Amino acid sequence: MSAYHPLSNEEAIILAKTIPGFFPEGAELDCREIGDGNLNLVFQITESETGKSIIIKQALPYAKVVGESWPLSLDRARIEREALQVQHRLCPDLVPEVYSYDDEMALTVMEDLSDYTIMRHALIAGKVFPHFADHIGTFIARTLFFTSDLAMDPRAKKEQMGRFINPDLCKITEDLIFDDPYRLSDNNNYPAAIEDEAEALRTDKALHLEVALLREKFLTRTEALLHGDLHTGSIFITEESTKVIDPEFAYYGPMGFDIGAVIANLLLNLAAQIGWKQDEADRRSHQSWLLQTSLDVWTRFEAEFRKLWDEHAVDPLAHTPRYQDVYIHKVLQDTAGFAGAKMIRRIVGLSHVADIDTIPDDTNRERAQRLALTIGKALIMNCRKIHSIAEIDDIVRTAA
Ligand code: ADP
Ligand code: MG
Ligand code: MG
Ligand code: MG
Repeated sequence: MSAYHPLSNEEAIILAKTIPGFFPEGAELDCREIGDGNLNLVFQITESETGKSIIIKQALPYAKVVGESWPLSLDRARIEREALQVQHRLCPDLVPEVYSYDDEMALTVMEDLSDYTIMRHALIAGKVFPHFADHIGTFIARTLFFTSDLAMDPRAKKEQMGRFINPDLCKITEDLIFDDPYRLSDNNNYPAAIEDEAEALRTDKALHLEVALLREKFLTRTEALLHGDLHTGSIFITEESTKVIDPEFAYYGPMGFDIGAVIANLLLNLAAQIGWKQDEADRRSHQSWLLQTSLDVWTRFEAEFRKLWDEHAVDPLAHTPRYQDVYIHKVLQDTAGFAGAKMIRRIVGLSHVADIDTIPDDTNRERAQRLALTIGKALIMNCRKIHSIAEIDDIVRTAA
């Protein structure tokens, strides 16, 4: 391929035909652009006769949401592709397979997961997924453990870190999650009805300190290769199976950021139930499932991470007495803090979640927003005191 340009549907078909051994000679191919994001094109190419299909995801050099005025490095497509390959190697059942790629064109050809549903949509529809916590807990534990200094030679780990320097996408997180929600900013976006809440976020000095400490961890801790954007819109799901996509924010950062992202998005959906389930008993029982699942995500992560540590750690100090417990405790505190920060930004910051924004009734939507902020603030304010996952359970129950 020649120098970068966004693909047309016709070019996507021509490209699909060059993937070795996939479509037969002379196959009749259809192409649709199905992306719902603001930063990328997603083409689905299907063979008319057999229904066999692939996905081509191509990065755009700017964020669509603000026209071409917000430039973004195309290197993030390489980073996303390499992260998918690392994650697929570590969790073959939980990540789509990469078939081919072209770094100059900023594109990745991968497995089509159209038989799956984006988890956010399924949660809004009120579905439950009994295996989700096991699947995602395993994904997080394996991808974080095996890319950390616990499991890698320090030189190999630093070399790998060099391939995942992702300044543009990290800057989005640094600004939109840790900065804008706590000050007056054109990037913020919330209804006038919750101006009191927004003002409280801008004036709460104790909260500002905790957020500064979380941001410092995001900026400086190179614990493991993170997914970096692990919300329920980056998860494809069925009753039996879970697949994680879209790691374009991947970089070496603090483990709790990924775990906190999953928990935050389950709790945002929990808050949103005020607007979705009118029957009180029905709502309470569904919220219990959401809360229990977010606790199970941690529990599953912890069990798997400890097992990997016991069986596979190569760090010469890994078996120092109490080190594992102290390490896990730190990750739990970070998880709580990052979960809180992620909840708050989805209410007052630039980018929201459909779980809450699409609640039809204004009063219920506002109640859901206030509940999400209450939980988010409590998670941040208590994160440095937390000793067990049961305390997160308490925080959410007290608020809800
Ligand atoms: P963005 O980074 O722009 O958010 P995503 O990777 O999340 O891009 O993809 C956007 C949408 O494209 C997804 O929500 C999904 O509908 C579709 N999509 C992406 N990857 C696949 C895939 N491998 N199989 C099927 N659909 C996909
Ligand atoms: Mg998207
Ligand atoms: Mg996405
Ligand atoms: Mg993305």
